[in-house]
Amino acid sequence: GTNPIKGKVVAITGASSGIGEAAALMLAAQGARVVLGARRLDRLEVLKSRIEEAGGEAVCIQTDVKKREDLIRLVQLACNQYGRLDVMINNAGISLLSRIDEVQVEDWEQMIDINLKGTLYGIAAALPVFKKQGSGHIINMISTSGIKIVPLQGIYAGTKNAVRTISEALRQESGGQYRVTGISPGFVQTELIDTIKDPAIRASMKERAAQIAISANDIAGAVVYAISQPENVDIGDIVIRPSVQD
Ligand code: NDP
Repeated sequence: GTNPIKGKVVAITGASSGIGEAAALMLAAQGARVVLGARRLDRLEVLKSRIEEAGGEAVCIQTDVKKREDLIRLVQLACNQYGRLDVMINNAGISLLSRIDEVQVEDWEQMIDINLKGTLYGIAAALPVFKKQGSGHIINMISTSGIKIVPLQGIYAGTKNAVRTISEALRQESGGQYRVTGISPGFVQTELIDTIKDPAIRASMKERAAQIAISANDIAGAVVYAISQPENVDIGDIVIRPSVQD
């Protein structure tokens, strides 16, 4: 049969590196038309070129998920360029680990603004289009940090678990009009670790990543799987960890 990915219009936040970039490449290779958003426009331009050189279709726009209007513009780009939006992947995220009693309130706010509010802005931008089309698919990048609670990741996990809760409510409310998928990766080798500010925590996470982390492509495969399902099949939650992760 024909590849169910072919022709799908997929917007991805945080497409400039890691999981978002890997998902964009894998989806485009299977014929999706990808709409790339992130703050680093230079990286998006390079990715767009790579995709086009391989025969794929992509557009990009500078997107800061802290700004609601940037998400609206990302969705508008999809609609203007390709006439529709089939999938919105809320993937942008940061992980600023610290003990809660260190009271790093600015870091907490960054994670709430990007991981939680950024995802909500993505949902808010996509849903009106999905309702008009009578179809669509929200994919939220969550984390195993929200499943197994550990020290240092309290606020990060809190933002991720908020997204998990909201995803499930949205799925129930959708009435089959659109689909909702939450993907919870475990330890993945990406640039996320570089965003950890505390040098000691960053160093120990890097060492652990080198030992056990799986690749961004392992997560991209799950994105492709969720999107590939027939319209009447909703993949609710996918958890993907290194086999050796606790
Ligand atoms: P990366 O750091 O490689 O990628 C994160 C992406 O988010 C970058 O493209 C970055 O682009 C983007 N981003 C950050 N802030 C913003 C912003 N304000 N607006 C728009 N884009 C932003 O990390 P990963 O690929 O690992 O992370 C992707 C998602 O996966 C995140 O939600 C993360 O929490 C989640 N995750 C990752 C795990 C891991 O072990 N790596 C484990 C579990 C979940 P730019 O800086 O150009 O804006």
